[in-house]
Amino acid sequence: MSRDAVRAQLARRGLRAERERGQNFLFDPRVAEQIAALAPVAPGDAVIEIGPGLGILTRALAARARKVAAIEIDAGLVRTLREEGDLPPHVDLIHADALDVDLAALADSLGPPVRVVANLPYAVSSPLLRKLLDLRGRVAGSLVLVQREVAMRLVARPNTRDYGSLAVLHALCVRVERVRDLPPSCFFPAPRVVSTLVRATPLDPAPLTADEMLHVERIVRAAFGTRRKTLPNALAAGLRPGPDPEFLHGVLDALGIDPRCRAEALEPGQLLALARALAGRC
Ligand code: SAM
Repeated sequence: MSRDAVRAQLARRGLRAERERGQNFLFDPRVAEQIAALAPVAPGDAVIEIGPGLGILTRALAARARKVAAIEIDAGLVRTLREEGDLPPHVDLIHADALDVDLAALADSLGPPVRVVANLPYAVSSPLLRKLLDLRGRVAGSLVLVQREVAMRLVARPNTRDYGSLAVLHALCVRVERVRDLPPSCFFPAPRVVSTLVRATPLDPAPLTADEMLHVERIVRAAFGTRRKTLPNALAAGLRPGPDPEFLHGVLDALGIDPRCRAEALEPGQLLALARALAGRC
């Protein structure tokens, strides 16, 4: 398929690439095959794909996988895929907003091993990435295309501008690698930014248990919510109820954390220890 073929197919179906839905389509089957190989999708794998679009990646995944469940929000694209997508019978097309889908139940219904592979819609890549973290323990790993800026935030280290709750929560659940960049010319229409393939592999054993996730996330988001404040002030501003100041200072002292520091100076493991110490106290 070429860029012109994508343009022509959309026009024939009365569709146009919708920017607000992050519709930047791959058009070179060799790129789609490389993504499936880099995932890496093996013959016994089931794959969850978010946003199949016109199906270029879906076909490459289906050529390797035992089963593919592809979730697409756009009714026109779903119709196009059903009528001329050339999808084999082991692809289940699900017309839904991936943010509303119970991905854990879907992964369980597919049976292990399950991988997530997607050219993610950029507008909702952060909430989707967060949702994928809840699949750890159920998936063998994920390979997703995101904007390079988002990839930098995923792998960011302390004391850098990109370091924040996305990096901390990922570091506590998965090992994240930037695999390679794809230039705007790989897509139709070409986005304004470079894209990056990011691979996430669940940590085993995971330092953060499923039960702890919501509490740790609440503390971490509060800690980074007002980045310029010191850690105690950021926690007081971001948590309702906030931690008792005296108790918090005792906790920071016990953990060897300077109360004048900001969240961005702390390693993910220190933020986890802090959240654990504050459990039930705020
Ligand atoms: N996989 C195709 C490809 O690589 O050419 C299309 C990728 S395009 C970047 C993102 C796709 O995600 C589009 O088909 C878009 O309609 C779909 N999409 C956007 N938001 C979605 C959502 N919340 N749930 C499911 N699909 C979504």
